[in-house]
Amino acid sequence: TSSIFAAVEMAPRDPILGITEAFNADSRTHKVNLGVGVYYDDNGKLPLLAAVKAAEKARLDAMPARGYQPIEGLAAYNQAVQNLVFGKDSPLLANGQVITIEALGGTGALKIGADYLKRLVPGAKVYISDPSWENHRALFESAGFEVGTYAYYDAATRGVNFAAMKASLNAMAPNAVVVLHACCHNPTGADLTDAQWQEVVQIIKAKNLIAFIDMAYQGFAEGIDADAVALKLFAASGLQYFVSSSFSKSFSLYGERVGALSIVTASKEESARVLSQVKRVVRTNYSNPPTHGGAIVAAVLSSPELRQQWEDELAGMRERIRAMRIALVEKLKAHGHDFAFVAQQRGMFSYTGLTAQQVERLKDEFGIYAVSTGRICLAALNTRNIDHVADAIAQVLKA
Ligand code: PLP
Repeated sequence: TSSIFAAVEMAPRDPILGITEAFNADSRTHKVNLGVGVYYDDNGKLPLLAAVKAAEKARLDAMPARGYQPIEGLAAYNQAVQNLVFGKDSPLLANGQVITIEALGGTGALKIGADYLKRLVPGAKVYISDPSWENHRALFESAGFEVGTYAYYDAATRGVNFAAMKASLNAMAPNAVVVLHACCHNPTGADLTDAQWQEVVQIIKAKNLIAFIDMAYQGFAEGIDADAVALKLFAASGLQYFVSSSFSKSFSLYGERVGALSIVTASKEESARVLSQVKRVVRTNYSNPPTHGGAIVAAVLSSPELRQQWEDELAGMRERIRAMRIALVEKLKAHGHDFAFVAQQRGMFSYTGLTAQQVERLKDEFGIYAVSTGRICLAALNTRNIDHVADAIAQVLKA
């Protein structure tokens, strides 16, 4: 008798993890992995933040028992997320218009939101930016949605083609779900201006679209408040919308899976009903979230000293990435190449405009790994590898 798995096909490899596997197998000492999506410090190491260490030590000393959490997670954590994402003085919070559940990273928040949306607006179409974080499409498709794209990136300017983006939004049917990157667009690094956000909010309102704002990099562009400008504009709009947020990057807590899904409703009474439905989605997926990561983030955000320490460390990460952007622009300028756009783009990533062929040469000839789309992670650059990277890019740009 044949195995029930006999006809199972091999799924395609995750393209980014594939880069890391090839990188790990490379024996060249000067190799650099710009394909990653994490923040490394100037020593090329994944940091464990001092504020996190302090909160973890206190938790270890307290040796708490490990009971189940509520389905929606830790109340102190959810409250802290709301204050951070919406601003603690937001009328939305005072009115009880926001529900927040602790989720398994930003990915978990998107998935719970997607599953709930499938119940709420089963026939709606979902639109993601062209291009977008590669998991957006797969995630909404796996929730049962048809996923299309809206115009976003402009290869000519390495910025946003805003006229085309508006045309895409204006062409959508009512109740279409629009997935937006709050800041530090992944993979391009190209963000909307405040004025453009205002126009996006107006179109979403006029066309009766449903915004799903993905905020995976709060604090990595300009600062915690400045990076929430889209959230503030949506808050003032009177709309209902979804927000996924993540502390993977901002707390360097990738493996602890700490994120949150927030939903803005029209009233406190509506919030209660929506929360009851979202809890059902959680209950049938993983029942309730794990304890550790959320407890650490809640402890840091609710202690004035630890919070200050975290904000300083977050600023340090942001400023280091910024310094690497500026240094790369200057070094490439010295080679006669205008990469000024790299300093305009924000967050961890840049769409460099390097072709798949040039990316291949970077790997073969210089041991530098990047995504074939030309996406590089600026947070993987440091003072010791940047000259090698800039020289190599200049070499592959030669005809
Ligand atoms: N959304 C975007 C745009 C991302 O870039 C990422 C991570 O790379 C995520 C969501 C997922 O974050 P998490 O690791 O917290 O699941």
